Amino acid sequence: MLNLTFGPIPSRRFGMSLGVDLSAASKQCNFDCLYCELAPAKTVDKQTYISSVEDIISEVKKSLKNHPNIDVITFTANGEPTLYPYLEELIEQIDNIKGDIKTLILSNGANIYDSNIQRILSKIDIVKLSLDCVSAKCFKKIDRAHKDVNCDAIVDGIVSFRKIYKKELVIETLFVKDLNDSDSEINLLYNAYNKINPHRIDIGTIDRPPAYDVNPLTFEQLELIANKLNGLPITIAHKNRPKSLQYYSENEIINLLKMRPLTHDDIENIFDNNSKIIFDNLLINNIIHKKNIAGVDFYKSI
Ligand code: SF4
Repeated sequence: MLNLTFGPIPSRRFGMSLGVDLSAASKQCNFDCLYCELAPAKTVDKQTYISSVEDIISEVKKSLKNHPNIDVITFTANGEPTLYPYLEELIEQIDNIKGDIKTLILSNGANIYDSNIQRILSKIDIVKLSLDCVSAKCFKKIDRAHKDVNCDAIVDGIVSFRKIYKKELVIETLFVKDLNDSDSEINLLYNAYNKINPHRIDIGTIDRPPAYDVNPLTFEQLELIANKLNGLPITIAHKNRPKSLQYYSENEIINLLKMRPLTHDDIENIFDNNSKIIFDNLLINNIIHKKNIAGVDFYKSI
């Protein structure tokens, strides 16, 4: 019997998440990323092993009954969930049973320039798309796409999707040492993020054994990258995030939040107790503002 659902598991960024695996039988993906936590596999552009909508819905119903505290139902896969051929029908049936729970999809973005995929993804509450690189050379090295994926069309595909998508769009970039962490790749990403204008950008690095011999960045290296992405709503995920508590004056806090909106985690990791008191006062006096973006609170000064 295949595991069509898993969890719920707590996610710092999205709350309590019930996973729905749209490729439960084996890895079926149009990418073969160097950093994948699944074993290497030949890329495909369609699924061969396909679960029925009926079986998935039956498992989701059981989980919803057993776990009343779910925040989000996450469409994911041992591979790429947009390759699941009945995705639209599944979303519609889940919408009928989920109540207030949000839906989320974690996609590699390879199909996003396809207008039919855009139309289907528009029905999901939060869409999270990967974007590891902008240059075709870098895409080829890290994501190792199926031959029919047009990597040059991905950024423009995300831009056009953003124009029609009315809900929350999150972009995720996974940095791999010496592959997409050069200044030139970061500049290209920065321009792409600005063009896309997503609600949030999650940056991270390898934190589980990768399919191929590649290395992660340190937290400090990710933070340097985040600081180069001036003004954008960035979250940093790293399993070894150090605390570096320091005092910040009122002006320093205001300027810092102008440069880079910070998350609650950032604040816990960098502000000492006195800075937190100043921060709270600024918040009470509406000099800084809190905004929840796809489940994460960001603080920003105007
Ligand atoms: S897109 Fe995801 S599942 Fe596919 S190869 Fe990359 S990391 Fe693995």
